[in-house]
Amino acid sequence: MNNHKKGVNTICTHVGELEDKEFKGAVSPLYMSTSYQFEDVDVKRYPRYYNTPNQEALCQKLAALEHTESALIFGSGMAAISTALMTFLQQGDHVVLQQTIYGGTYHFAVSQLERFGIEYSFTEGWEVSDFEKEIKSNTKVLYLETPSNPLLTITDIKGVADLAKKKGILSMIDNTFASPINQTPVDFGIDVVVHSATKYMGGHSDITAGVVAASKEHIHMVWQTGICFGGSLSEYTVWLLERSLKTMAIRVKAQNENAMKMATYLSENKDVDNVYYPGLKTHPGHEVAKSQMTGFGGMLSFELNPEIDASLFFKALKLIKPSMSLAGIESTMLSPTQTSHSLMSPEDRAKQGIKDSLIRFSLGIEETEDLIADIEQAIANVKSMAVTA
Ligand SMILES: *Cc1c(COP(=O)(O)O)cnc(C)c1O
Repeated sequence: MNNHKKGVNTICTHVGELEDKEFKGAVSPLYMSTSYQFEDVDVKRYPRYYNTPNQEALCQKLAALEHTESALIFGSGMAAISTALMTFLQQGDHVVLQQTIYGGTYHFAVSQLERFGIEYSFTEGWEVSDFEKEIKSNTKVLYLETPSNPLLTITDIKGVADLAKKKGILSMIDNTFASPINQTPVDFGIDVVVHSATKYMGGHSDITAGVVAASKEHIHMVWQTGICFGGSLSEYTVWLLERSLKTMAIRVKAQNENAMKMATYLSENKDVDNVYYPGLKTHPGHEVAKSQMTGFGGMLSFELNPEIDASLFFKALKLIKPSMSLAGIESTMLSPTQTSHSLMSPEDRAKQGIKDSLIRFSLGIEETEDLIADIEQAIANVKSMAVTA
């Protein structure tokens, strides 16, 4: 049994559990203290030092899931991402960021880096060669995100990690969309993994949190920056996140299955123009996705025929919620033009291939048949309105 590798559900359920020594309860006790004894102790504990009992326990589970030595939990995905970037970048450095990244990360780069004297470039596409083209003598970090938002583009993780190693640059990936259930980037040579735990890790649309996972050495560096920026997560939410993670693997697998069935259905639907899902053989990144993902994820996007008005379609949905954010157990849809990418100019959106008719679909755990029935009634409803108008 010594070398027995635990299965992912066992890791989710048990790694990093705190034992209830007093009452022998089934779940980790929650330690709310912000004040701990300073004498005769090994560790001086304080929530913003990321070292309370619940934080340390949860970090073990997160590191086990991401196949890293260590991890840290933050108050949001952006707290994790900004702290990680500001750890490895200094005045005079340069960072290459993938063009298609989360809007908040894009905004952080364009609004904050320059005033710290940090240069940045965005890649033109999402191929390894696009990263290589932007590297300069002072480049210190390559930052990627795959699958990306909202068109689910796929970047070759090993390719970017190898390129970074060859040039002596640190590689950092946003693994939010895949979750560690579908993709563990350090196995392909990535140095630092960041997450918005608000999404699949939380999974119930009721937690905001972030994660950085990496080697002990890199996490120690992030910790030194983190205690200054102070983006730690409240103990109660740490405890809730542990509860959520116990079911992450079964949730994400159900969402993978739903997305695959939905992508297949939508690509055969004549009221739908295009479907973007890395699990489809027709997706340009399918082969690369197959080589680096164990599941293709619960996110997809599609375009309705221009004759079907997207905002009327959203209004006609009865089960699927038109709402922001993603990765909850309930299915949601949104229009990137009206939400996540509304600050971008129409020209820039067009450059990224984001049409006004594009709909991003976050699959929940409902039965696929019920979701399909909802889409069919909504399309029929919009069409009948067009006839009577
Ligand atoms: C939501 C999200 C973030 C930001 O996380 P917050 O928890 O909202 O701060 C970063 N990256 C991706 C891919 C996201 O979806």
